[in-house]
Parts: sequence; structure tokens; C-alpha cells
Amino acid sequence: MTLLANARILTIDPQMREIENGWMRIEDGLIAELGEGAAPERGAIDMDGDLLMPGMVNTHCHMAMTLFRGLGEDVDDRLYRYILPLERECVTAPVVAAGSRLAALEMIRGGVTTVADMYYFEAEVGRAVAEAGMRGIVGQTLGDFDAPDHDTFDEAFALTEALVEEFDGHRLVTASIAPHAPYSTDIPVMERVAAWAQDHPQNPVQMHLAESDAEMAWCAEHHDARPVEVVARAGLLRPGLIAAHCLHINEAEAEQLAANGVGVAHNARSNGKAGRGIAPVEMMRAAGVRVGLATDGAMSGNTLDLFAQLAPASMFQKILGHSRSVLPAAQLIRMATVEGAKVLGMDGRIGSLEPGKAADLIRIKLDDPRVQPIYDIYSTLVFALMASDVSATMVDGRWLMREREIETMDPARVIADAVQVAGEFNQRIEALDRSMQ
Ligand SMILES: [Zn+2]
Repeated sequence: MTLLANARILTIDPQMREIENGWMRIEDGLIAELGEGAAPERGAIDMDGDLLMPGMVNTHCHMAMTLFRGLGEDVDDRLYRYILPLERECVTAPVVAAGSRLAALEMIRGGVTTVADMYYFEAEVGRAVAEAGMRGIVGQTLGDFDAPDHDTFDEAFALTEALVEEFDGHRLVTASIAPHAPYSTDIPVMERVAAWAQDHPQNPVQMHLAESDAEMAWCAEHHDARPVEVVARAGLLRPGLIAAHCLHINEAEAEQLAANGVGVAHNARSNGKAGRGIAPVEMMRAAGVRVGLATDGAMSGNTLDLFAQLAPASMFQKILGHSRSVLPAAQLIRMATVEGAKVLGMDGRIGSLEPGKAADLIRIKLDDPRVQPIYDIYSTLVFALMASDVSATMVDGRWLMREREIETMDPARVIADAVQVAGEFNQRIEALDRSMQ
């Protein structure tokens, strides 16, 4: 049993109940009870008036791509010039393990407690998530390009089956299948994924959807349709689908996503940095689509910090709507927590601080001058707080970090391993640059 007291608690429950000064009792990894005032029994840990809120939910990530952070910056063709050759030649199981550990370390320090990941050698990602003590959905990617861990779709399905078997019944990690995108799988493969998903209702499907102009052009050329229609024709527009990006969505498509129970992962920084456009988040939410926040991989958005997503996500919608009042701060915090949990189909277990839910929570210090005074705590969270203000992170009732000290990993070792891989990448990059001259 863990008892926390003298805390300012944001529950993010349906009533958005706030407890100015309260306590919480945690048993067997679950929130047993919480209330106002002094703790009802002895032995409480004093939270010093700090903020407690649900851990953040990162609904779309490629954890191992932390190793590509800042690589080939501002180069338009960097995907084909650097990333794909590096993935083909240098991405191995140990490399994915090293990148995933770095990502877990970064996320725990930033207050992210749950992540949905899709990449290659995904069993390594699942193991890194489990060892770090985080909660995660780990998706084996399928694509028709030269993937580092499979040559054929049959092989990718076999890897997915092995992933499901390895994490069957795991308390923290759930296996998933991740068709890369409509243009890199096409309808027959997506149909096969839909059939697979039918047989595996506990395992979500993750996919990039309606992300780029190139994808729009591909769908028009090959199917005389828009991406959502292409996915619908394959039977993949179904509950359990986690669709990342969704920039090119009209109102009819938003209604279609909502009616089919599809969740959307919104990656504001990644989309902005690639110059791709602004996802119509407010329009989708008004249509009833569940939308969560996400970082994407660090190659695209440079950070796995969900605090860093909040302000851009807010500003983009205010710009789209030409209004200060669009997407209020409290709604962004819901998207970063309970609505993200809904996107992942996990809102029965996580996303808010309520009795019966998992004790996935973060403690935040409010004593930095940049944070005070506080009129609206949600505004403070969105526009003033930083990942480094998170002092403690708990998942499933277990502290992963206290006083900014990580308890489940050796940070120096994790960082050294990642830097070593980057050194190997650099040698390959120099060779690639020489071959281009
Ligand atoms: Zn992505």
C-alpha cells in the first residue's frame, strides 16, 4: 500500500474534479481511494503541495528513432538520402533496443506513462518498455519497402504472431499490428490485417493515415479515392484502429472515423516541422472523433516530450479557427491523458485518477518562477510547465522516477549506448555523403 498526502490533485475524471489539498491510497497497482484534506491513516508520503495528475499518454511514437534525432535536419530528401539506407543497413535488434531504452528514459523523465509504438524488431521495443516499467502498445510494422526485419508480408505477419505470443497476458505491454500506411501496404495487405484484427480483438492496429500530399496523390492515382475511403474499402476502418496524423480529413470523413470508433493520434510538432499542414483537430472532435496527442518519432519531432506538444497543438487550432477561444487548455490536458487513453482503447484502466484505475501518475513541482502565479492550472500546464518540472513518475503503483532520479534504468549506460550507435551511423552517413558527390 502507498499513501500519498498533501497533494493538489487533478483527477481528469468526467467532472474534471480538482482536489485543492488531498490524498490518495494505492493498492496492488490500483488507485483504491482518494479524498480531500488530511490522510485518513498514518504513514503517508508528503507531496509538499505538489501537483498530482494522470501520467501522459503518447498515442504515436517510433521509440527507436530517438537514434535519428536531429539527423539530416533541414534536408528535403533526407528520408531517401539518409534514413532509409541507415534503416536498411544499420538497424538491428540491438540498435532498436538501445534506441527504445533511450526513448523510455526520456518519456519517464517527461511524465509519459503510456506509449503506442510502431517500428521494427518490435519485441525489443516491448522488452525495453517492460524493463523500464512503462505501459505500452507495441506494433510490428508491415511495409512494402526494404524493412530491416522482414522481406515479405508473410514474414511480417509471423513476427507479429511471435510478438502477440511473447506479450500475451503481460500486465504492461500489449502487442499490436502496424501496417505502415495505405500507400506502403495497399488494399490486399490491409484486408489481411483487417482479418487478423478480427481474430485478435485485444490487439490494436496502428497506421499512418491521411498524412501527406504524396499519400493523397497515390490514393487518387491507384484507387481514385481519398485515404480514408481506401482504408474503408479494405475493411480496416474499425474500432481498435489508431490512425496517426489524419491531416487530410473532411467533415464526412470525420463522421466516418467517429462512427467506426477509430482513434486519431495528433502529432502537432512533427506535422509542423515537416511543413505538412494542420490536422483539423477541432473539427474532428466536434464530429465525435477521439483524438489524443502524440510525439511521433524523434526523427520527425525531435522530442518525446508531450508537454512540448501542448502549446503547438493549441496554437495550430487557434490559427485554423482564427480565434483565441478554440481548444481551451483543459481540453488539451484531456487529450494528453484520458482521451489519449480512449484512442488506445485503454480508458477503462488509465487516463484519469479515479478509484479502480491503475496508479499511473506524475508529480509536478509548481515552484518555478515561470509557473507562478496560477489562475488556471490547465493554462499553466499547457503554456508554462516543462517536462523537467515533472519530479516523479509512477506506473502501476511503482515509482519509475523520484526526485528526477530514475529507479528502473541506468541513465548513464542508456545514453552511452545510444551515443555509440550514433557514432556508427555517422560513419555510414559520411560514406553516403561521399557517394552523392
Ligand atoms: Zn509516425
